[in-house]
Formats: sequence, structure tokens, C-alpha cells
Amino acid sequence: MAEITGKSSVAGIGCLLIFLGLVCLMLGLLTIFSIIGPLILWPLGIWLSIAGIGASLWYECSECGTRLSGKRVKVCPGCHSELRRWVTFYGWKRR
Ligand SMILES: [Zn+2]
Repeated sequence: MAEITGKSSVAGIGCLLIFLGLVCLMLGLLTIFSIIGPLILWPLGIWLSIAGIGASLWYECSECGTRLSGKRVKVCPGCHSELRRWVTFYGWKRR
């Protein structure tokens, strides 16, 4: 029986998006007196940061490593094994 494994990574696209988001927020702050600057840059920066956090957290199957759409998935789409309810983070089991 497979388990759902919670994964997170600070490397890769998620980190890049968060960094770009923060850059946009900073630029918005620098261009605050132009009014139009923060209006465009702040929502963009917040969106990029949220997208980055979403991209750096995911769930996968402990058997085959297939990325799952969420922790409520019952059967792994990759190896078709039944997934347990609990989530394992870095080998630490919550029972
Ligand atoms: Zn699997």
C-alpha cells in the first residue's frame, strides 16, 4: 500500500517565481509615486509569490513518485495503488 508523501523544494521554478514576485513588490514600492507602477506590479508580485509557493509544495505517491493533484487522491494515477489517508513529510509519519 502506497502513501501520499508531501514534498517541498526551495530549488527550481517555485523559488524563481517567489523571487520574481518579491522583485515586483520591491519595484512597486520604488515606483509608488507613479501610481501606475504599484497598480501593475503589486498584484503581479503577489500572484507570482502565490504561484511560486504552490509550485514548491506538492504531493506524490511513495511507491512510484507520481505527482498527485492533491492529498484527497485515493488511487495513484501512475501505479494504481491505493493511497493511505495520512501524509508523510520527510519520512515523518502523522498517524
Ligand atoms: Zn504510484
